[in-house]
Amino acid sequence: MLLPGTKRILLKLSGEVLMGDQDYGIDPAFVLELAKEVKAARDSGLEVCLVIGGGNIFRGMAGAAQGMDRAQADYMGMLATVMNALAMQSALEQLGVHTRVQSALQMDQVCEPVIRRRAERHLEKGRVVIFAAGVGAPYFTTDSGAALRAAEMKCDALLKGTSVDGVYDSDPKKNAQAKRFDTVTYDKVLADNLKVMDASAVALCRDNDIPIVVFSIREKGNVARVLAGEGVQTIVQKD
Ligand code: UDP
Repeated sequence: MLLPGTKRILLKLSGEVLMGDQDYGIDPAFVLELAKEVKAARDSGLEVCLVIGGGNIFRGMAGAAQGMDRAQADYMGMLATVMNALAMQSALEQLGVHTRVQSALQMDQVCEPVIRRRAERHLEKGRVVIFAAGVGAPYFTTDSGAALRAAEMKCDALLKGTSVDGVYDSDPKKNAQAKRFDTVTYDKVLADNLKVMDASAVALCRDNDIPIVVFSIREKGNVARVLAGEGVQTIVQKD
């Protein structure tokens, strides 16, 4: 096992991975593949919390760059994360995995509000809990939402599934010599401004001693591989 003693994880997926090979939106077939990975983690005995971004549909910063009011655009981004959460819930239920969506923006007709004690109960019963709408406030990202829920739910690790297989000393897409860290400290990530998660998310994980495992979600079966300690990843942790 990658992090011995891990019982509960929070898996953060950026919205972009739900697009599959499309340029925008949700590819249900691809979401189903991701759901299989989540199911495998749950079936291995872990309690699984999920946070999904919204970048495949809308990002507040992009709206603001085009002249929209930033807070208004951020609320649209939060709504996008709820759509993604519902898509993932549907895929997980197709696989027979009981799932609850809890949103930081209340919308009673579609999902539950975030209630920590209720989320605890869901996890105890083997349900996957998807936390939507980030922290429920503009000027934040779903990375911060993921760190917040990981702390609140006392997760043993935050797994960040993204398009690169870890944290590099420079951008691997621009620099062929870029080196991947196996492990790196929170403080180095913050001091060197390494691209992992935004600073508030990293600081929250540091202050609550939650390791961040950065890995590629693009390869099939990688969640299980990484959890088993057989994958490629970077662990952000204290010294
Ligand atoms: N967002 C926000 N507050 C939050 C979480 C998200 O305002 O707590 C908005 C923000 O506009 C963000 C968008 O929702 O750009 C989508 O989330 P994010 O960019 O984190 O998605 P990802 O990059 O993970 O797909």
